[in-house]
Amino acid sequence: MTPFQALLTGPDGDSAGTAVSARFFDGQLLVDAPRTTVDIAQLVVSVGGVDGPELFLNWLDAQGRQASLKPLTADDIAIVLNEAPAALQPQLQRLWRERQRNRRQVSGWLAGLTGAAVVATALLWWQGGNAISALAGLIPLSTEKQLGELALSQVRAQGGIAENGATQQTVRDIGQRLTAGSRYQYRWLVKNDDTVNAFAMPGGIIVVHTGLLRQAGDPGELAGVLAHEVQHVEQRHSLRQMISSLGWGALVGVTIGDISAVAAMLAHQAGTLYFSRDMEDEADRLGLLALQRARIHPDGMLSFFQKLGKTDGATPPDWLSSHPQTTARAQQIRSLIAATPCPACQPIHSSGWQQMKAALPASTK
Ligand SMILES: [Zn+2]
Repeated sequence: MTPFQALLTGPDGDSAGTAVSARFFDGQLLVDAPRTTVDIAQLVVSVGGVDGPELFLNWLDAQGRQASLKPLTADDIAIVLNEAPAALQPQLQRLWRERQRNRRQVSGWLAGLTGAAVVATALLWWQGGNAISALAGLIPLSTEKQLGELALSQVRAQGGIAENGATQQTVRDIGQRLTAGSRYQYRWLVKNDDTVNAFAMPGGIIVVHTGLLRQAGDPGELAGVLAHEVQHVEQRHSLRQMISSLGWGALVGVTIGDISAVAAMLAHQAGTLYFSRDMEDEADRLGLLALQRARIHPDGMLSFFQKLGKTDGATPPDWLSSHPQTTARAQQIRSLIAATPCPACQPIHSSGWQQMKAALPASTK
C-alpha cells in the first residue's frame, strides 16, 4: 500500500513530533523507524486544527502511553482516506469527510463576505444543523469564552454554586488530570442540587451537582463523568448546541458587548443543553481515551452508566435523560475498553474523596 508521511507524537516519537513514513497493510497500520505495528481496531480518529484541518490517528501502546499520528499534507491525508481498511472508514467518514464538506461550503460562502454581511448570512442560515456545526468551528475562542462567562453568571445567579472549598477541590483535582494540554482553562464548579446531573458550558466550565457526587461510588466513576463532559467542551458540542438554541444573534450580542438580551435567554437554558447521539458517542470515545492517557482505569465510566441505568423508578436521573440510549452506549463503552487495553492504567486515587463524601449535604429526597 502507498506510504504516507506523518508526524508521530508519543511512543518513541518526540513530544514535538517525529517525521515518519507509514502505511496500511493487512488490517494494520505500519510505522517505520521507530518501527511500530498497530491493529486497526485500536485506532481512534480525531480531527482538530483551529486554523486549518488536521487529522489524527490515535492509539495506546502496550504500556498505555498515547501515540498520535498526523498525516502531514493534504496528499498524505488523501492516502489515509483512500487506503484505510474498511474497519476504520466509518470513523473517517463521520469525522473527516463531513467536516470537510461543511468547511468547503462555508469557505465558499465567506470568501466574498465581511463583517455585517457574514452575520446577516449566518442569521439567515443558522437553522441548518450543518451550518451551525461548520460555523461553530470559525468562532474565535475569545467569543466562546465570553459566552461561557455569561452562561456562568446565570448559573451563579441561581445560587448554590461552590467555586472553592474541599468538595470543589476534590472535583477539580480529578478533572484536571483529564485536561492536560487543552487550549481551554477549565473551571470546576459544584452545585448544591439533589438531582444526579453534571454539565459542560462553552469555554471550559464544568458544573457537577452534589446529587451526582453522592451517587458516584468512587473517584473512578466521577472521573468517567468528568472525562465525558470535558469532551463536550473540547469538541465544542456545548458551543454548537448553545448557538442552535439561542441563534446567532446571541453571538453577535456577545461580540458587540450588548449582552443583556443574551443573558436573559441563557437564564432559561443553563444546564439543559441536549446533545445528538453522535456527539454523545464522540464524548464517550474521546473521554475514554483521555482517561487512558491520564493512566486512569476507565471502568468507572462504564460502571457509573450501568449503575444509573439500573436505578428504579419511572424517571431516570437527569444526567441519563440528557444522555439517552444508556444500554447501547454502555455496550459500546464496554467494547471500546476491550479493544483498547491499558495495562498501565490504575484505579484513580483521590486524597479528598472520603472527606468530600462526608461533607456532602444530606439528600432531601
Ligand atoms: Zn454527554
